[in-house]
Amino acid sequence: MSDLRARHHAVMPSWLSLYYDSPIELASGKGARVTDADGHTYLDFFCGIVTTMLGYDVAEVREAVERQLARGVVHTSTLYLIRGQVEVAERIARLSGIPDAKVFFTNSGTEANETALLLATHARGTDQVLAMRNSYHGRSYGTIGVTGNRGWKNSSLSPLNAHYLHGTDRDAPAFRGMSDAEYIDACVADLRDVLATATAPNVACLIAEPVQGVGGFAMAPDGLFAAYKEVLDEQGILFISDEVQTGWGRTGSSFWGIGNHGVTPDAMTFAKGLGNGFAVGGVVARGDLMDALPAKGVSTFGGNPIAMAAAGATIDYVLEHDLQANAARVGSVLIDGLRPLTDLSTVGAVRGKGLMLAVEMVDPGTGAPAPSLATAVMERARERGLLVGKGGLHDNALRMSPPLTLTAEDAREGRDILLDVVTAVHGEAA
Ligand code: PLP
Repeated sequence: MSDLRARHHAVMPSWLSLYYDSPIELASGKGARVTDADGHTYLDFFCGIVTTMLGYDVAEVREAVERQLARGVVHTSTLYLIRGQVEVAERIARLSGIPDAKVFFTNSGTEANETALLLATHARGTDQVLAMRNSYHGRSYGTIGVTGNRGWKNSSLSPLNAHYLHGTDRDAPAFRGMSDAEYIDACVADLRDVLATATAPNVACLIAEPVQGVGGFAMAPDGLFAAYKEVLDEQGILFISDEVQTGWGRTGSSFWGIGNHGVTPDAMTFAKGLGNGFAVGGVVARGDLMDALPAKGVSTFGGNPIAMAAAGATIDYVLEHDLQANAARVGSVLIDGLRPLTDLSTVGAVRGKGLMLAVEMVDPGTGAPAPSLATAVMERARERGLLVGKGGLHDNALRMSPPLTLTAEDAREGRDILLDVVTAVHGEAA
């Protein structure tokens, strides 16, 4: 293991994120648990950055992929018809609620957002884009340009330069103490002000995550995006909902994260959980936007037959087992159990929706973000057999996004470990 770590550092970029002092090499998985190369088994509350959303080694997905492999894989590019693409696109178009929706498949969330930005900037004839503070949309030139989180914004040379809006910073001094309705009014006033003073007259789109993933599961109050959309519609500005982390029922209360806001976007992007670990993403958008690109397009690997077999089986599983309802049910076991942590002076917030939950660690004296405490909790949770993620503008939010199949029993086990380790870390810091 330590040998592999040394080899990793020799040939991989120094900026590549690697959790834990002594990094974990995953070797196998079953259900909500993974086993590392040293034989330690962990309850996985991060599921490969929200990818294995059904858990590990799901027979239905494995068998669908094996059936496709047995056909010799067949052609991988989009130059020929791929039955799986048409069938999965039909399902996603229907589930999206977007009128006359069409779907384009990619290999990742970054490519999905690139495509959505391409559609919007082409349709509107401008590269002016609105995005949210603290957002993350990918690591390509264009998506870095609309990312509003310093820790992840690796380049200032992107051709796109977004104008950033308030919306998930309710605790900022300017907004403290406001009700949801007052905060939404303030955010809408901010949007109007940005449009009146900061952008060129013609703006292509707003791109936003309904719950910010890398941003530490920071959330806009329900209804914010409907209020934004009224303003956007006045100027024909398009709205892209980045559902890369929030899609497929993860928030419990709606199938897409944006459903919590009572608004239908012009386009949605997705990836992560769709293939339950197999790389696949895409865009679902109004048909007129999708069809408007003048040049030919192809995606060699996007939506290839194996990815489509995994995606079709994954969507079927989510719907047949009503995993959105499970996310709501099991999510409340977790969040209700973790809420008492807010009594500790080292815990700034416990928040989330469904199975997308965060615990924010702060300095007990000043209340300032405390990334070192979050790291300490992660390390101790690992020792106790629980994997969680980390994020937020200051890297001080512990992120929990377990498989949507999580049982209440597993939720209670993870909750109890977290209660213990956060309390222990608090005891040493306070
Ligand atoms: N959008 C969001 C909201 C994400 O969380 C991510 C990845 O974490 C991306 C886009 C980029 O997706 P990918 O890593 O598949 O390129």
